[in-house]
Amino acid sequence: MTTSRVLFWHRRDLRLADNLGLAAAAEISPALTGVYVLDPQLMDPPEHLPPMAPARLWFLIESLRELQQRWRDAGSRLLVLEGDPVVQLPQLAEQIGAETVVWNRDVEPYARERDRQVAQKLQADGRKVLVDWDQLLIAPELLKTGAGDPYRVYGPFLRNWRGQVLEKQPATVPAPTGLVDLDSAQMPAAADPLAALLESHGFEGAELCPCRPGEAAAQQQLAAFSGGPLLGYEPDRNFPGMAGTSYLSAALSVGTLSPRQAWCEAQRSRDQARSEEQLHAIAVWEQELCWREFYQQALFHFPELADGPYREQWRRFPWENSSDWFSSWKDGQTGMPIIDAAMRQLNQCGWMHNRCRMIVASFLVKDLICDWRWGERAFMELEVDGDLAANNGGWQWSASSGMDPKPLRIFNPATQASKFDAEGEYIRRWVPELRHVNTRDLLSGEIPALERRGYPEPLINHKAQQAKFKALYATIRP
Ligand code: FAD
Repeated sequence: MTTSRVLFWHRRDLRLADNLGLAAAAEISPALTGVYVLDPQLMDPPEHLPPMAPARLWFLIESLRELQQRWRDAGSRLLVLEGDPVVQLPQLAEQIGAETVVWNRDVEPYARERDRQVAQKLQADGRKVLVDWDQLLIAPELLKTGAGDPYRVYGPFLRNWRGQVLEKQPATVPAPTGLVDLDSAQMPAAADPLAALLESHGFEGAELCPCRPGEAAAQQQLAAFSGGPLLGYEPDRNFPGMAGTSYLSAALSVGTLSPRQAWCEAQRSRDQARSEEQLHAIAVWEQELCWREFYQQALFHFPELADGPYREQWRRFPWENSSDWFSSWKDGQTGMPIIDAAMRQLNQCGWMHNRCRMIVASFLVKDLICDWRWGERAFMELEVDGDLAANNGGWQWSASSGMDPKPLRIFNPATQASKFDAEGEYIRRWVPELRHVNTRDLLSGEIPALERRGYPEPLINHKAQQAKFKALYATIRP
C-alpha cells in the first residue's frame, strides 16, 4: 500500500458496505476521500426532463447525511459539492492531490456521456481513472443471446442471468475502515449544501413513505423483509392492501442497498425455508431483482429507449391527450376508486404498489388514451424510487410500446380491483370519503349518486374506451 490520495465519487451507490468501487479504491490507499456532486442536470433539470421528485430529493439528502457520518466513522470524509461534475471533479482532484479517481459505472445515457467527459479531463490532467460495475449482479456486456445480441425478451434473459449469478455466487465485501483524512492544507473551503436542501425539499410524506433513507435503514428493511414477508412473497406481493413486498426500490435505486446484499439475503432465507411454497416465494422475489437488471441492461444497450417507444409504430399513435383527464388521473380524481386510491398513495407517500402501477398505467394509456410519456414523466415527478430504466420499462410494458412480445395488454380496473383488493381495504384507506360505500360498488366504481358525497363521477366508460383504443391501435398495427 502507498499513501497516495484516492478520490471516490459516489453516485448511485450511497453506502460504504459492499461497494465494489469503494473497496477497490481502499485497496489502493487508505488515504481515501469521498465526494458526491449535486449535479444541476439532475437536481434542477432542463424543461424537457422531469423535475426531481420532492420524495426522491428527501431520500437522497437524508441518505447523504447518513453517508457523511459513516465516512467520519471510517476515519475520513465525504465532501458534497454543487455544480457540473465535469468541472468539479477535476478541480477537486487537483486541490486534494488525488492521483486516482474511482467510481462505479451507470447505465443511464446522460451519466455515461458525463462520465466519459470526466474521465477524459482527469486523464488529460495525468490522473488515473478506475471504473467498474457495482449496481448490477451481472454486467450488461456479459449478458448476450447465443447470436451475440443483447436481450429483448425477459424469459431468456432471466435464464442466462440466473445461470451466471448462480455460477458466480456473489458475495458481499465489507465497508472500508481505518481511512486517512485530508490534512488541513488540502481541505476545501467548508460548505454544506445539504442543510439548505433539507430545509427546502418540499416533501410532506416522509412519515408515510415506506422506503426509509440511509444504509442502516436499508439493512433493517432487508432483514425485516427476509425474516417475514419474503417467505410469503408469492402470492402476497399482488395485494396492495398487504405489506407483502420489500419497499427496497428507493434503496436499490440510490444504492443505499446493493443488489448483492439483496441476493445474498435471499440465499440465506433459502437455507431457512421450510416448504416448497417458501422456496417458490423466494425465487419469485429473485425474479423481481432480475426485472430490475433486465431494464437496466435494456437501457444500456438501447439508450434510445429513454427518448420514446421501442416499437417504431407507436410514434404514429393518435393520442387524444386530454389535459383535463390527465390532471384528474394525476390527482386521483378519475371517479374510478382503484385508480384514485393508487394515485393518492403515490401523491401522499411517494411510493405506489407494483400492481397499482400497472393498473394506473394501463388506465392512463388505454382508457384515457393519453401518451404514456406523460405518465412516465408524472411518475418521475412523484416517485421516491424514480429510476429511468425501471420507470421507462414499466411504462413501455404497460403501453405495449416496449420489448414485451405481448401485443396489446389492457387491464380492466374493476376486475383488477376485485381480484387484488377484494375487500376494498386498500381503496378505503386512500379514498376515505368512500369508506361507507359497499364493497361491490367500491370495486366496480358504479357508485350511486347519493353515496358519492363529493366523489367525482367516472370520467369514462371502460368498455367504450377499450373499443376506441383498439380501433386506434388498428391504424398503427404493423
Ligand atoms: P419488491 O416487490 O420487493 O421487489 C424487489 C425489487 O425488485 C424492487 O425494489 C425493485 O428494485 C425490483 N423490481 C421489482 N419489480 C420490478 C419491475 N417490474 N421492474 C424493475 N424492477 C423491479 N421501480 C423502480 O424502482 N423505480 C421506478 O421508477 C419504477 N417505475 C415503475 C413504473 C411502472 C409503470 C411500473 C409498472 C413499475 C415501475 N417500477 C419501478 C417497478 C416496481 O413497481 C417497483 O420496483 C416496486 O413496486 C417497488 O416496490 P418494492 O421495493 O416493495 O418491490
